[in-house]
Amino acid sequence: MTAQKLLEEIAGIGRSPATGGYRRFAWTREDSDLREWFRGQAEARGLTVTEDRVGNQWAWWGDPDARGPGVVTGSHLDSVPDGGNFDGPLGVVSALLAVEELRREGFTPARPIGVANFVDEEGARFGVACGGSRVLTGALSRERALALTDADGVSMAEALSRAGRDPGAIGPDPETLARIGTFVELHVEQGRYLADTAAPVAVASSIWPHGRWRFDFPGEANHAGTTRFEDRNDPALKLAALILQAREVARELGCVATVGKMRVLPNGVNAIPSEATGWVDGRGPDEDAVRRLVPLLEEAIGTGAVVESFTPSTEFDPVLAGELSGLLGGAPIIGTGAGHDAGVLAANGVSSAMLFVRNPTGVSHSPAEHAEPDDCEAGVAALATVLRSLAAR
Ligand SMILES: [Zn+2]
Repeated sequence: MTAQKLLEEIAGIGRSPATGGYRRFAWTREDSDLREWFRGQAEARGLTVTEDRVGNQWAWWGDPDARGPGVVTGSHLDSVPDGGNFDGPLGVVSALLAVEELRREGFTPARPIGVANFVDEEGARFGVACGGSRVLTGALSRERALALTDADGVSMAEALSRAGRDPGAIGPDPETLARIGTFVELHVEQGRYLADTAAPVAVASSIWPHGRWRFDFPGEANHAGTTRFEDRNDPALKLAALILQAREVARELGCVATVGKMRVLPNGVNAIPSEATGWVDGRGPDEDAVRRLVPLLEEAIGTGAVVESFTPSTEFDPVLAGELSGLLGGAPIIGTGAGHDAGVLAANGVSSAMLFVRNPTGVSHSPAEHAEPDDCEAGVAALATVLRSLAAR
């Protein structure tokens, strides 16, 4: 079995025929199909599948309570709107195949090995990224999580009920956390660092600090034909200023900022909007600069913002990163602007690491994201090497 073949098994789930992109959101039918697929694949490899209080899935080789804590690998199967089939799934598939390889060669782990499928990593439905790992660790409170709503106004509590789950059961799960001695997440690279090097796999050093802010602009609905410019209160103009200023201010600070989500009401072609909302995503290598981004933006456009989330810079265990790089023949160690469940675990004191697999274009969060079959196999082999070493002691 190859990573490519295993990815093809889920290639039909949540794929939009119109865009070729994936819509795999938490607690939907697609999500449920993917979870069932994960369970089947894990059980076919002799793993015992459990779920934590949040709904993250854990497939164990060996009993983590009797002989733990274990070495855990894995990633997520959900997607952004119109995402690709590699961001998340490559890590899950590679984890299953690395375990399969260790089993085939008769490896006997000295401590249990786990494969995780984290729920709601992208935050595409409820707006908070890494929801599964954040609730697990307590970084996101259950009250706040359950009250989050999707674009249709459905709360997470309601979505959980509709998916046949008990919203009252979710919350931090220290017992599950205690089973994780070391966590290693393999992920398709979301950038072009490896594309220009001879190495198919890199090790992560850190995740950039990352914030999400919401700007609400009230306006006054009116007729697009009969209202003079001087009589208008058009909030779309503020939204436009926000989009342009976000880029300007971020550039000056050495960060990146994006307004990729916006809402205009009533969203009619012949109506001046009554309300406009823009969400700013800001990141960068320097935390102080990222923190200064929104105050400067607020000043530039004269409107205050609501902080939806802020994740400080996350450093992965430098000793572990160095060790993995050595195991992989001197693999490069690089930082990333993308958030991951491994980062949430690292921020909560779990010794964590990430492996990145080369992406020829660097594109991600798009149907164009890709990794060559040979590089995917190199990723599986790298993960097997890492597990072989970490689970031997
Ligand atoms: Zn991902």
